[in-house]
Amino acid sequence: MANYKHLDSALIHGGIYGDALTGSVNVPIYQTSTYEQKGLGKLVGGYEYSRTGNPTRAALEALIAELEGGIAGFAFGSGMAATTAVLSLFKSGDKLILSQNVYGGTYRVLAKVFNHFNITFEIVDTTNPEIFEKAITSEVKAAFIESPANPLLSVTDIQAVAAICKKHHILTIVDNTFMTPYLQRPISLGADIVIHSATKYLGGHSDLVAGLVVVTTQDLAEKIAFIQNSTGGVLGPFDSFLLIRGIKTLAVRMDRHTQNAEIIAQFLRKNEAVKNIYYPGFEDAQGHAIQMRQAKNGGAMISFELQDKYDLNRFFESLHLVALAESLGGVESLVCHPSTMTHAAFPKEIRDAVGITENLIRLSVGIENVYDLIADLSQAIRSSELQEV
Ligand SMILES: *Cc1c(COP(=O)(O)O)cnc(C)c1O
Repeated sequence: MANYKHLDSALIHGGIYGDALTGSVNVPIYQTSTYEQKGLGKLVGGYEYSRTGNPTRAALEALIAELEGGIAGFAFGSGMAATTAVLSLFKSGDKLILSQNVYGGTYRVLAKVFNHFNITFEIVDTTNPEIFEKAITSEVKAAFIESPANPLLSVTDIQAVAAICKKHHILTIVDNTFMTPYLQRPISLGADIVIHSATKYLGGHSDLVAGLVVVTTQDLAEKIAFIQNSTGGVLGPFDSFLLIRGIKTLAVRMDRHTQNAEIIAQFLRKNEAVKNIYYPGFEDAQGHAIQMRQAKNGGAMISFELQDKYDLNRFFESLHLVALAESLGGVESLVCHPSTMTHAAFPKEIRDAVGITENLIRLSVGIENVYDLIADLSQAIRSSELQEV
């Protein structure tokens, strides 16, 4: 029995704590590929080969399962390896429903890899449960959703979608990367499988690439364990250690990320250079009430567009503190240009249909001093204004 009640304690003490052999408060990095056996089938600590299982990875897997409230966790070499393992549950003829905005790589692996195996998908506006339910046909075996979804931060009612999925006996899969279990726990809302790109907030320091899967039934646990061992996209022991280390500070980082984001969202909204702004923390944002019901707050991702008289390239080039880079969720603030970066894999027709314009900027608010961030954004906006001729 755990001697704590709250998630911010579980971040530090959850899963497997320390090392019984030495009293080390951290789980050691078991940098080994294999384990000596005392005789045929006589394993010493239950481990035989590190693709199948490794104690450092096992500690991380137990930790994420506890944090998300599932029964088993699995660690992979990237978020996409985690997604690929989950998609490997499906077979030829199966179809998935995808949220309207999802990570570009999720779209790409379905459109360009799983299509080879006749696993198909349809992009549906899951923010509307009625539209979502109408899209469920006999071939549909799962809904794959993100909320708030990448990059327009549209909010899907996870509980409503999961209830519809249960009624139709299909799986609810939630990519919880943007929220983390500290802000949102999809399993408590009815999801069957949670996926993370742990590269982002869970790692939190932009120093590793990793993915996690959490499942809710013994059947799914056995299937994902089999797929993980068979396809082999596992996370190494050192990166597992780094990720456990990152997760310990998740609560304090997320509090600061979201405090900063609330202030920056207000600053951007008041700035006349900003045309549109997407931030689920705004009271008048799409899905705000649902967001506040299913998550702790609006998170720390903000997307916005500048008025036409501002030059996007000049804006990016003028930023000194905020870096132009792929990724999000690190301690440092990052901006990206979804239409040519994170969502370049979407064909232009789909980008247009879902509202990912050429002008869209996505900001991952870091934990720097918020007034330094505002000063940087402010001067970059000023420098990017085109002069009338
Ligand atoms: C980055 C990201 C992924 C992919 O994860 P990698 O670790 O880059 O493979 C999946 N989903 C979301 C929401 C992401 O932001």
